[in-house]
Amino acid sequence: MINYCTVADKNLSAPRQVIDNSQTLYEETTMRLILLGAPGAGKGTVAKLLTAVDGSVQISTGDILRAAVKEGTELGKQAKQFMDAGDLVPDQLIMGIMKERLKEDDCQAGFLLDGFPRTIPQAEQLKVLLADLGIELDAAVNLDVPRDVILDRLTTRRTCVDCSAIYNVKSAPTKVEGVCDKCGGKVVQRDDETEEAISKRLDVYNEKTAPLVDFYRREGLLMDVAATSSEAVVAAIRERTGG
Ligand code: AMP
Repeated sequence: MINYCTVADKNLSAPRQVIDNSQTLYEETTMRLILLGAPGAGKGTVAKLLTAVDGSVQISTGDILRAAVKEGTELGKQAKQFMDAGDLVPDQLIMGIMKERLKEDDCQAGFLLDGFPRTIPQAEQLKVLLADLGIELDAAVNLDVPRDVILDRLTTRRTCVDCSAIYNVKSAPTKVEGVCDKCGGKVVQRDDETEEAISKRLDVYNEKTAPLVDFYRREGLLMDVAATSSEAVVAAIRERTGG
């Protein structure tokens, strides 16, 4: 039994045609995307909208790290100081997480990498890891959002500590202040969303993560999307991947 969905081939113009064991020709629909973009560009929101449409899984290294910090695990203890300062967590820790995560069964329905890779060494190691696992990426989507829009978004953003749902005090507030509409969890401003930490994170992004745009352009995987609403971004991605 084959699920019928649509995923772009490398040139992003048509669904990939695959012949299964019974020689049936079908169009594969599983999306395997990287979401690139500065903090606050809307990667998390776009990922949630897309996964709801196609059944793929959102993998956010930021969410994984925050959960580890909350649970007080060894990983969480090692990551917390970097995160609170707005710095990147060392590549070695991140690759350890992703090596395990990408092997989990739910990734077979496709995945959206949100906040990973964040450095050139991470991107290079991801390339090797995916080749080892026999997985091909469909695209690296670059969400291009102006800095003033990002700053405004981040300082007004609120996040549910339980289910990671994202709200905005101006444009998408919770129905009851401080309470998640979806799970009833506590909705807060993240520790790393103070003005000082945000400014540091944007500098770190420009220095360490922005070079990934050229990296994926050279790989022939870059898809630039300039849109300010998450819905418009999702529509553009679906149109260009046939998803
Ligand atoms: P995010 O929610 O994606 O903005 O991530 C929050 C914080 O987690 C970042 O500011 C980093 O400290 C850390 N982090 C998340 N993903 C990565 C990554 N791929 N590499 C290094 N640090 C990361």
